[in-house]
Amino acid sequence: MNIHEYQAKELLAKFGAPIPAGHAALTVEEAVKAAESLPGPLYVVKAQIHAGGRGKGKFKGAAADAKGGVRLARTIEDVRKNAGEMLGQTLVTIQTGEAGKEVNRLYVTDGADIAREYYLSMLVDRATGRIAVVASTEGGMDIETVAHDTPEKITTITIDPAEGFQPHHGRAVAFALKLKGDLNKQAVKVTEQLYNAFVATDMSMLEVNPLVETTDGKLLVLDAKVSFDSNALYRHPDVLALRDLTEEDPMEVEASKYDLAYIKLDGNIGCMVNGAGLAMATMDIIKLNGAFPANFLDVGGGASKEKVTAAFKIILSDPAVEGILVNIFGGIMRCDIIAEGIIAAAKEVNLSVPLVVRLEGTNVQQGKDILAASGLPIVSADDLGDAARKIVAQVKKAA
Ligand code: GDP
Ligand code: MG
Repeated sequence: MNIHEYQAKELLAKFGAPIPAGHAALTVEEAVKAAESLPGPLYVVKAQIHAGGRGKGKFKGAAADAKGGVRLARTIEDVRKNAGEMLGQTLVTIQTGEAGKEVNRLYVTDGADIAREYYLSMLVDRATGRIAVVASTEGGMDIETVAHDTPEKITTITIDPAEGFQPHHGRAVAFALKLKGDLNKQAVKVTEQLYNAFVATDMSMLEVNPLVETTDGKLLVLDAKVSFDSNALYRHPDVLALRDLTEEDPMEVEASKYDLAYIKLDGNIGCMVNGAGLAMATMDIIKLNGAFPANFLDVGGGASKEKVTAAFKIILSDPAVEGILVNIFGGIMRCDIIAEGIIAAAKEVNLSVPLVVRLEGTNVQQGKDILAASGLPIVSADDLGDAARKIVAQVKKAA
C-alpha cells in the first residue's frame, strides 16, 4: 500500500525526522490558507499523487514550457495561481504512464534554501534477509539513471533487524554522503529515525529523494515516498486509515473487498484461477497460444460461491474481456462445489462471453458432470494446454 508524500512526512515527523512545515489542501482557498500559516517568503506547492517524478512531470494540455507538479512560489498570490493551475488537472510523470493521474490534493510547504541534494532510501532486501539502506550524493535525480551511469556513487549497507540500528550504520551513511562535522551527526540521527519508522510501521520501502542540506547547515527530508507491506497492515489500523482509494484501480479495490488478488492487464482473456503460481502459469500459456490475459486473478484456496461470483463480476466489468478461462485445482476445495459456484455465478451475472473451464483434483468427474448438465454454454477442458487452446479459439470465433 502506498501513501501520499504529506502523509509519509507527517508519519516520519512522529519519529523525529526533520520535515519542512506544510499543510495538505483540497481547494485553492485551503492552499492559500496553508501558505498564510507558513513563515515564507518561499513556498512550495506540490501535487499529491501516488507517483514520483512530479517535478519534471507535465500537466495534460498545458503549454510545453509550463511548470510541473512541484512549484516554487514567492508570494501568497503565486501560491493561489499555481494551486488553481494544478488542482483538477492530470499530471503525467515517468511513473504514472501516459494516462497520468488527476491531482485532487496539494501539499503546501515551507520552501527550503537548498545547498545540496542527497539520496537516502530503505527497503527490505530479500537476498540478505535484512533492511538495505541505499545512500548517494546524487540526490534529486532519477536514482535508476545514477545506478546505471555511475554505480560507484551509490552505497548500500544492510542492517540485520535482529541487531537493529547501530551508530556505525548511521556513520556509514554519513560517510557515503561525504558529510562532516555537525552534518555528519545529523545524518546518523536521521538514518536512525528513518530506520525506526521503517521497522515500527512495517514499511517495505522508504525513499527520501532528496534529503537536502540547507544553506544554514540543516538536513531536511524534502520528499518522501513510502510503501507498506500489505501483509502487515492488519496490525497498523492507523496506517491503513491513510489509504487513498481514489489513487487505486477501482476494480482492484473491489477485488480486495472479497480478498481476491486481482491485477488488471492489457489483454482480452479474463482469468480466474486458484493459487498465484497456477495463475502465473495460466497467463503464460494463454500467451503461448497467441493471446493475452486481461488480468491476473487468484481466488485463493477456499473459493466460495460468493467469491467466485464477485470474481466473475470483476472480470466482466472490464470491457476488454472477450472470453474467460477458469482454471481451478481442487485440492482443499472439491471440484463439484466449484462447478456449482461457477454455474450460480454465470447465471447471476448473465454471462455474455465464451467460458472455458478446466477443473482438476478431488471429485473432478462430478464437477464436469455438473457443468455439462447445467445447460450453460460452458466448454470443458482436460488440462492447462487444452484449456488455453480452447479459449483462444472461442474468442477468435466470436470475433
Ligand atoms: P518529485 O519530483 O516527485 O520527486 O518531487 P520532489 O519533492 O522531490 O521535488 C522535486 C524537486 O523540486 C526537488 O529535487 C528540488 O530540487 C525541488 N524542490 C522541492 N522542494 C523544494 C524547496 O523547498 N526548495 C527548493 N529550492 N527546491 C525544492
Ligand atoms: Mg523526489
